[in-house]
Amino acid sequence: METRKARLILALRSQGVTDNKVLDAIERTQRELFTPELFTDRAWEDSALPIACGQTISQPFIVDLMTQSLKLEPRSRVLEIGTGSGYQTVILARIARLVYTVERYRTLLQAAEDRFKALGLLNVITRFGDGGEGWPEQAPFDRILVTAAAPEEPKTLLAQLKPSGVLVAPIGKGPVQSLRRYTGDGKGAFKAETLCDVRFVPLLEGTAREL
Ligand code: SAH
Repeated sequence: METRKARLILALRSQGVTDNKVLDAIERTQRELFTPELFTDRAWEDSALPIACGQTISQPFIVDLMTQSLKLEPRSRVLEIGTGSGYQTVILARIARLVYTVERYRTLLQAAEDRFKALGLLNVITRFGDGGEGWPEQAPFDRILVTAAAPEEPKTLLAQLKPSGVLVAPIGKGPVQSLRRYTGDGKGAFKAETLCDVRFVPLLEGTAREL
């Protein structure tokens, strides 16, 4: 595992992930705790892998790129939409002060909560719900990360961002979406940038009826 981990970190560096705080968080987080047993062997590959409920754990390169693009600060309060396995959540929680994470599948959320507990993370707050609605009671946030593809600019979430905040989300309706970053100008407007093409599962409305 250690050799595979070192190889992955090197590969990420060579692909432009230069933020040491992010690389350090990746290095300290055993990805095999977040993947189904069947895929333990592949946990340190730079690829997305299937998890329960037909969802996926994101590719490490994309997790890094998204985390780096958020420009986290140690005091940041972050909202994450789409807890999934909880892997991205942990990477955020190792860098930022507080992470609020929302998931629409109870099964996934429960498994992720067990992992946060096992890792002794005290700065992750979870919620079962429709992340498209954000978390109004805890808004405004310094940073928002959406890890499922929103069909269009997520206005409801942007409204829950601080004026100088940053939101990163895959935007698009097809199988390939654009990773977009919205940066607040401090006066209520947001500058939008396209970072790269990505493939995410869609952000769906409502909570899942199945477990
Ligand atoms: N960041 C995750 C990747 C999760 S895949 C990881 O590292 O494992 C995207 C997740 O978003 C899925 O678990 C999916 O169920 C969830 N999702 C999709 N639409 C959602 C919504 N409206 N609210 C909350 N979660 C949602």
